[in-house]
Amino acid sequence: MNTVNIALLSVGTELLLGDTVNTNLSSLGQTLYNNGFILSSEVTVPDKKEIIKDEFLKLFDKNDVIISCGGIGPTEDDFTKEVICSALEIDLEVDEEHLSWMKSRWEARGFTMPETNIKQAQIPVGSTKLINSQGTAPGILIKHSGKYIFILPGPPREFNPLVIDEVVPLLKDNFSATNKEYEFVLFFNQAESSLAEEINKFKPEGLDLAYLASKGVIKLRYDKNSIDEVNLKEFLTRLKDTFKDSIIGYQNIPASKALFNLLKEKNLTLSLVESITGGNLSSEIINYPGASSILLAANTLYSNEAKKEYLSDDISDDWETLSKELSEKSIKKHKSSISLAILGEAGPIPSSNYKIGEIFIAISNNKQTVNFYHKLRGSREDIINRAVNNAIWDLINFIK
Ligand code: AMP
Ligand code: MG
Repeated sequence: MNTVNIALLSVGTELLLGDTVNTNLSSLGQTLYNNGFILSSEVTVPDKKEIIKDEFLKLFDKNDVIISCGGIGPTEDDFTKEVICSALEIDLEVDEEHLSWMKSRWEARGFTMPETNIKQAQIPVGSTKLINSQGTAPGILIKHSGKYIFILPGPPREFNPLVIDEVVPLLKDNFSATNKEYEFVLFFNQAESSLAEEINKFKPEGLDLAYLASKGVIKLRYDKNSIDEVNLKEFLTRLKDTFKDSIIGYQNIPASKALFNLLKEKNLTLSLVESITGGNLSSEIINYPGASSILLAANTLYSNEAKKEYLSDDISDDWETLSKELSEKSIKKHKSSISLAILGEAGPIPSSNYKIGEIFIAISNNKQTVNFYHKLRGSREDIINRAVNNAIWDLINFIK
């Protein structure tokens, strides 16, 4: 079997206006990769006939499988199917069975189907109708010149099931899977360029490697099949030895998931007191199923009054002391195995005696409390996001 070039054509002016995020691209990319295939390219076009046609024909020329999404609704700005069929010189005909099904759906709700909807029942001659259990427009599969064209609906809840039920099986039946196999190493507290410089000193030739930086965490992605096993093993050993203090994990997961897994593995419970992060830290942790058996409580204490009330005492002006007191109160109150309190100045106008970006974290277990201090840079949003990541990282280090 041959390898395959797969392209996505996303149709919709709203995508180019930034009004709708192209989640069909990310979900398609993920679903394909999880099934052994890699999306080769993607093009986004507005609801403009000429542009859809031009870009479709370019993709058709270079790919074996072309998937379009969007523009198959009933309204006047929906014409993806018509444009693709005219580009390929294929006629459309009304599928009577589908038309009467659509009409019966309208009638069941006490309405008559508008004439404009008839076009959703039009099917390219010789094509296959794909059942769309979530909407009225069917998906369509055209086989033309040895290539496959999927015309799929735009709404993700309609698009995604069709990818899983129709696109993936067709790929598996007709094409060989990729031999790329990506693995990941997650780093914290590293600058991307200096990390790359260090790694380049011992990176084996031919290793397919990429750096993805986001919110203070760097993901190193490598294709484990791009070099031989011995070289790869040696590279990974070097990597671990060089960066052992800043490696969070070896899975493609967020830092919060690495923390969650660690807490679970060690049977630890957690309680939090959040000021600067305003609940963002706990909201990361509750993303994961089983969170309630790990996160016992999270108090967001924003004002001085709220902190006083929590401590039933006057509060210290010194944030190292205050974070320690809040953390110790939390562990006592909620009987968790570990507690963390985080205070800081996010700016842009300081509301404390501290400088913008100063972060105070205290972490307690039943024996001791450890203080951590960070000086962060960036916008208010950056500082808050990084404060969350620093708290996660400090917790991972504390537990380890
Ligand atoms: P359409 O089939 O063009 O009428 O699209 C219907 C709706 O699906 C749009 O209003 C968007 O909200 C959504 N949509 C279309 N394309 C995408 C996409 N690529 N990613 C996420 N949502 C989309
Ligand atoms: Mg549209």
